[in-house]
Amino acid sequence: MKKIQMVDLKGQYERIKDRIDASVLDVIDSTAFINGPEVHNFQKELEAYLDIKHVIPCANGTDALQIAMMGLGLKPGDEVITADFTFAATVEVIALLQLTPVLVDVEQDSFNIDPDAIRKAITPNTKAIVPVHLFGQAANMDAIMAIAEEHDLYVIEDNAQGIGSSYKFADGKTAKTGTIGHVSSTSFFPSKNLGCYGDGGAIFTNDDELAHTIRGIVNHGMYKRYHHDVVGVNSRLDSIQATILRAKLPNLDIYNNARREAARKYNKALESITNIITPKVKGNNCGTTEDTICDTCNCHVFHQYTLRVINTDRDQLAAHLNEKGIPCGVYYPIPLHSQKAYRDDRYDEEDFMVTNQLIKEVISLPMHTELDDDQIDFITNTIINFITK
Ligand SMILES: *Cc1c(COP(=O)(O)O)cnc(C)c1O
Repeated sequence: MKKIQMVDLKGQYERIKDRIDASVLDVIDSTAFINGPEVHNFQKELEAYLDIKHVIPCANGTDALQIAMMGLGLKPGDEVITADFTFAATVEVIALLQLTPVLVDVEQDSFNIDPDAIRKAITPNTKAIVPVHLFGQAANMDAIMAIAEEHDLYVIEDNAQGIGSSYKFADGKTAKTGTIGHVSSTSFFPSKNLGCYGDGGAIFTNDDELAHTIRGIVNHGMYKRYHHDVVGVNSRLDSIQATILRAKLPNLDIYNNARREAARKYNKALESITNIITPKVKGNNCGTTEDTICDTCNCHVFHQYTLRVINTDRDQLAAHLNEKGIPCGVYYPIPLHSQKAYRDDRYDEEDFMVTNQLIKEVISLPMHTELDDDQIDFITNTIINFITK
């Protein structure tokens, strides 16, 4: 059996090595390292893939979120509602811009921001909602867009874990995640579903004016060379990363299908085991019933495959898996509202019942495009033996 890895970047690279190596060498040969044609080509191809008017490449997913918020003109003191159960980058940029983060609880089945909790948290100072499509499954965008419209709020989708996934609305229309809110961000960190070989990110929007504003912000606030109209940042995707992303983008659906296939196999082996709750694909109106993973749409792209283990010591299970040579992860072990940097007297533990429970139960298994049946069998059997011992 091949050594099991949390993410097998090497195996994936080897399948496309010729194309990647040639295009990287071409960029080096061209010396168009910054703002070269490959960045523009990638931008156009990603716009077509997502069916969105504007993709603005930038240096990483954290910058993308920050720049999206700067582009919307949010001001210190504006309240921005986001999930308590996510990667810290989401709340970090809110705080950095001196906006007020308002963390709310998530849904137990999807791990995504709870629309009822959003409603409860809205005040006259609320300006935006940041749903995170956590682990690759879209948040409830029907409810979130309705709340935003009712209260005149911006929706900024953090699509770092969701690229390539689709959302089906209650009225039957579908849209890719990252194209639904006013503006969205994604990350091309190597382990993401569409990853480059370094850092990278992008902002998406259908709003022409906002796209123009953001294109200036990523480039030192310049709209005309050496004229600085607003305070900007320096955040660029470099040409080598762009050419790697161009080589990988045509495979994104294939990669996401491979992830879904692995998730289906994990589910099949684990769903009947007492004390294990396999990830729920809520389907978001796509016709999927819970516990099945759709063949026909991309409603979950399994950035992570995350189990909940109950009446079991999760940390002992993780240690056991590691002993057997199986890497695993706990995303996330501490709720953001309990992190030293983001604690706030306004928070009431009662309002974070789900997150407080999930952090004790979740464990993410190896998930990538190269998992084979032997590896999945070994992983699932090791878990079953530990749980039923
Ligand atoms: C990875 C990630 C980010 C940050 O992306 P970077 O490219 O690492 O800056 C932001 N939000 C979420 C939910 C992520 O998973």
